[in-house]
Amino acid sequence: MPDAPLISALVVLAIFHTRNAGAPIGGSIRVAQTVAKRYRELGGSIQFNAKVDKILVEHDRAVGIRLADGTEHRADAVISAADGRTTIFRMLEGRYAGPEIRRAYAEWKVYPPVLQVMMGVARDLSAEPHHLIFDLPSPILVAGQARTMLDVLHYCHDPSTAPQGKSVVQVWYGSNYDYWAALRRDAESYALEKQRVADLSIAELDRRWPGFARQLEVVDVATPLTYERYTGNWQGSPDGWCITTANMGKELPKRLPGLRRFYMAGQWTMPFSGVPGAATSGCHAVQLLCKDDRKEFERHAARGVEPVSSPEFHDDQQAG
Ligand SMILES: Cc1cc2nc3c(=O)[nH]c(=O)nc-3n(C[C@H](O)[C@H](O)[C@H](O)COP(=O)(O)OP(=O)(O)OC[C@H]3O[C@@H](n4cnc5c(N)ncnc54)[C@H](O)[C@@H]3O)c2cc1C
Repeated sequence: MPDAPLISALVVLAIFHTRNAGAPIGGSIRVAQTVAKRYRELGGSIQFNAKVDKILVEHDRAVGIRLADGTEHRADAVISAADGRTTIFRMLEGRYAGPEIRRAYAEWKVYPPVLQVMMGVARDLSAEPHHLIFDLPSPILVAGQARTMLDVLHYCHDPSTAPQGKSVVQVWYGSNYDYWAALRRDAESYALEKQRVADLSIAELDRRWPGFARQLEVVDVATPLTYERYTGNWQGSPDGWCITTANMGKELPKRLPGLRRFYMAGQWTMPFSGVPGAATSGCHAVQLLCKDDRKEFERHAARGVEPVSSPEFHDDQQAG
């Protein structure tokens, strides 16, 4: 991240050091399942596969949502945790953006999308470092950019990711949305480029770990368009806004000027939010809702919540 203040990296390290952060066993799906379980226990209900198209507004008050299938749901209040640009400028047609938000959306830099090659390999990599970045003997051309290094992670610290003796491995490249969007106009070229990126990555891993290519059992490539399709995030950005020396410490308003009973949460409400920032922003949105309702805001830590396996959370489903 160009222009990122060094302190932001130190803060992350400090949070890990104080054991206030970690990598959840079971991955992000387990985190989502745990949150969903808690939400239901508190009386919430979730409708999956329900894409919101419009936020319904009457007399400058949010009164519900309209789904892509045309059905409407009325509500006392609406909280959007979807992509910020889509929410403000499409679902609400930009009518309540206000100068502060408009300036941020015009000037703040979006965290660039990523290209990932995920692999399942019949090889135990647990003795290798969890995260490796190594120089390549000669540059490789990936998604129109010459790459001189390979960024590799394995997940052997998490036994739920692969059977014993096998490993999940990921190669990660910073990428470019427009490159993939142009390729996607022709399905065959898009598929071929994904295959080419996978082959190049596998060849480099085989050079480092001879026999790796032969031991591969499954390969999947996710492009910025994959992320856009699953999350609706602008340009498939994994993290919303880049943190820079200009926006560090700033947050965007979670209420929009002139619109009542509407609140925003999620990674687009603050720079480089990640999961902790997105979760905190949800808490802030509810605090604002309580204030508007003249209710005291109470927060209770959920203790002993065990993750559950839920058939509703398959990776091909998009949460509503
Ligand atoms: C590969 C990768 C690795 C990452 N690693 C880390 C990490 O190690 N630590 C960390 O803190 N962060 C990490 N992040 C970032 C983190 O995942 C995000 O910042 C975080 O998930 C943002 O949460 P969110 O709720 O704002 O948005 P999202 O997680 O994008 O969720 C938005 C939800 O809204 C739904 N939605 C969107 N549009 C609509 C619509 N119109 N109607 C209905 N539903 C809709 C989507 O389907 C989705 O379920 C990573 C991201 C990626 C991609």
